[in-house]
Amino acid sequence: MSILIRDALLDGRVESVYIEGDRIREIGKKIEADTVIDGKNMALLPGLVNVHTHAAMTLFRSYADDMKLQDWLQTKIWPAEAKLRPEDIYWGTKLACLEMIKSGTTCFNDMYFHMDMAAKAVQEMGLRAVLSEGFIDMRDREASEESLKKTRAVTEKIAAMRCTRIVPAWGPHAVYTVSQESLRALKQLSDETGYLLHMHLSETQKEVEECKAETGKSPAKYLEDLGFLSDRCVMAHGVWLDSTEIAALARTGAKVVHNPVSNMKLAVGKAMPYAELRRAGVPLSLGTDGAASNNSLDMFQTLKFASLLHKFASNDQTAAPTKEIWEMGTIGGAKALGLDCGRVEEGALADLILVDLRRAFMVPNHDLYSNLVYAASGDCVDTLICDGKVLMMNRQVEGEEEILEKASSAALDVTRRASHG
Ligand SMILES: [Zn+2]
Repeated sequence: MSILIRDALLDGRVESVYIEGDRIREIGKKIEADTVIDGKNMALLPGLVNVHTHAAMTLFRSYADDMKLQDWLQTKIWPAEAKLRPEDIYWGTKLACLEMIKSGTTCFNDMYFHMDMAAKAVQEMGLRAVLSEGFIDMRDREASEESLKKTRAVTEKIAAMRCTRIVPAWGPHAVYTVSQESLRALKQLSDETGYLLHMHLSETQKEVEECKAETGKSPAKYLEDLGFLSDRCVMAHGVWLDSTEIAALARTGAKVVHNPVSNMKLAVGKAMPYAELRRAGVPLSLGTDGAASNNSLDMFQTLKFASLLHKFASNDQTAAPTKEIWEMGTIGGAKALGLDCGRVEEGALADLILVDLRRAFMVPNHDLYSNLVYAASGDCVDTLICDGKVLMMNRQVEGEEEILEKASSAALDVTRRASHG
């Protein structure tokens, strides 16, 4: 299978791009192809990479908002999650994939439950994903053994699919929900398999203070001393990091995923130390977090929030400029996940979007990155290609109606089951 994208705007020039198999083969030549896409009035860009989400939480979109965090978790989210069935994860993930395709995301890093069902959904939808079964043992020895068994079984199942677009990972939830023994075991599994470790880190002040009270160390320092941190760690949030933690992350090569919308909505109380992390050389990428705490998976919103949050927090209009933020949302994400996407270059994976430059909010186009970060929404994406296959053209995605219908009824059912106890 081959695709030719004709006459699209690429890095300020009109270019044609030839894709064969899963990769970009030629830029600048009009080679005959099975599919020809007219790129006139479109910008050709790498697809966005969402490095932290819980995809099937789309089922809880608009279910509970504007509540105190503990109330929200204890009376709404946890009871509903307890009622999730494998089939729900499948439809919730399908809905998430649909939303991501429609808003220009070609690759995502997901942590949730029943991830073999998420993998099935991703395989059918055609996106690229790193999938980790969320690991929680509440620091209980028996639960630890049970959870390790389960997480290995699910991970092996995902690996056995042998889908080149789907990469398994290990998903220890956070330091306050996972025992030291389990953290060591998961690190060991990561060493053996080479799979990433996807984890939440220092999201709230409360978890940092509890960790310090208990271990005498901040969470990142505690993890470093455990031997857990490495360049295979993808840590979500990193809001309440102090300088010793930033140094630990930099030393070990661990990555941090910034989730500005979720952080602001859940009122975590401060902005991630963006400038300090960059100065220390910690690789940064962007994520939406789950649809219960965002409530959108549109990465264009995340681009804008990221830039605005750090301008606001630092009282500096030059902070977090557009090109830097765009790179965090694309190549930064690809690097965090160790994948060869996130760039439009010969030899790279063909994970691409065509952005419609004739949308009112994209005109005039004095600066494309300014428009992408400050003016655009995911709606500007006309065509999406992942792994060399067209998943959306003229904003049409196959099977959309069925997904909307099945996901809405799954969402209604699970929340009904939750409210009936
Ligand atoms: Zn999260």
